[in-house]
Amino acid sequence: MTADPIGFIPVDLGQGVTAGFTLRRGGLSLPPWDELNLGVNVADDAAHVAANRHLAAGLLGAPVAFSTQVHGSDVYVLTAADAAQWGSLTPPESVGQADAMLAAADRLDEHPIGLGVLVADCVPVLFADAEAGVVAVAHAGRQGVLLNVVAATVAAIESAGGACSNLRAAVGPAVCGRCYEVPSDMQAQVVAAVPEAAASTRQGTSSLDLPAAVIAQLHLCGITDVQHVDCCTMEDDRFFSHRRASRRGTTTGRQAGLVAMNGAAL
Ligand SMILES: [Zn+2]
Repeated sequence: MTADPIGFIPVDLGQGVTAGFTLRRGGLSLPPWDELNLGVNVADDAAHVAANRHLAAGLLGAPVAFSTQVHGSDVYVLTAADAAQWGSLTPPESVGQADAMLAAADRLDEHPIGLGVLVADCVPVLFADAEAGVVAVAHAGRQGVLLNVVAATVAAIESAGGACSNLRAAVGPAVCGRCYEVPSDMQAQVVAAVPEAAASTRQGTSSLDLPAAVIAQLHLCGITDVQHVDCCTMEDDRFFSHRRASRRGTTTGRQAGLVAMNGAAL
């Protein structure tokens, strides 16, 4: 069984950094996870997910570490011990519970490791300070915006030697403000924390614009170089969408934001 080439939207986060966002196209998973499902715990065939992650690693030029995302704000910092333990092997299915991960090149010189963040409507965020050799990912859904996982990630990057003035960030495909309908009290709670989250649906009901909220939080951290891949996962069939699948009474897979230092040239 062979797969089509992986669908991938690259972003430029600096010299020596490979980064971007996967699409559904190009993996081995069968419906309703077709095709490039990179998420475990969504009832897909584990062998298919492992093969898909291998394809993603080939694209990135490094094995890709994933975490178990729990809508929190913990940041997992990959260590040289992690990298040495994994070597050129595939990392474990999950490094543990965390909604952000960080890797510093000086700790991973001999064994470059990529980072992946899994989403299907939530906002994937990629970070790189190419000069300092620090990369990071974050998963920001509604809870992640409320907890400001973005600021927690930036703080970890600074602790690892990165600088906001050199940081580039990319905000990936997510459900848009016209589609993410929520009850008005839920909207009010998020807007009280991040006013930029305020939105309304095409029908005029209350909603949240999570990508706008994340971009505002990045700017508040002092990051000015923010790219936005402005695609709506719910409207655009090229992506997995939890909300779209739920409305159809089915489940779905997860796409990923990926970043690595010294990855293969695309
Ligand atoms: Zn939309």
